[in-house]
Amino acid sequence: MKPLKAYEVHDGGDNWEIVFATNSATARREGGSEMGCDWDGVEYCRRRPALDQFAPGPVPPLALIEQGWHFECFHCGCRVDEEMEEIEADPDFDTWSDPEPVQKGQFVYCSQSCASMDAARRRGRKAAEAALIDLVETKYPGSTATHAHVYGDRLESEHGHCSATFTFPGGKFAATYKFGDGAWVSQCDADAFRALYRKEGA
Ligand SMILES: [Zn+2]
Repeated sequence: MKPLKAYEVHDGGDNWEIVFATNSATARREGGSEMGCDWDGVEYCRRRPALDQFAPGPVPPLALIEQGWHFECFHCGCRVDEEMEEIEADPDFDTWSDPEPVQKGQFVYCSQSCASMDAARRRGRKAAEAALIDLVETKYPGSTATHAHVYGDRLESEHGHCSATFTFPGGKFAATYKFGDGAWVSQCDADAFRALYRKEGA
């Protein structure tokens, strides 16, 4: 086995890939197919020896930043690069940490503040999803909520984005509960649903 080497494959536009391959031709072909362009669509395929140590990938974002890449903060969307020159502390923004690239898994943030706020948002969403599942199973006894989707980080009915999928005894298809709206049940299951949960007025 030849060792894998790191290549940067670029389509000349917004897309690039770091590809680990034993030779440039393979890297070019694989990178091109990852980006959805063919061989000729690849603008360049460059060796990136500094990234060889991360084979077979993925390369941690901070290592890419060290090599001159830039990202968008996953929370606030600002540019994150090694210099961080464009970042100025917003006086109206509750920032308690200096701007510096922070990495959580494959996500990149401009500061510890943004990383923490994003983590809080995720925790909020998880809690809201658990609450929604609980609500559905309580509202429709015997049902099983299989999936909950919460838009944002809390249960709210305004935009109709919070919903849960559930099954109920006698139902052939999964039903959907839209928070603040009600249950949506397949025509085939309407009778079974009504018989079970008439009191809910569904
Ligand atoms: Zn940020």
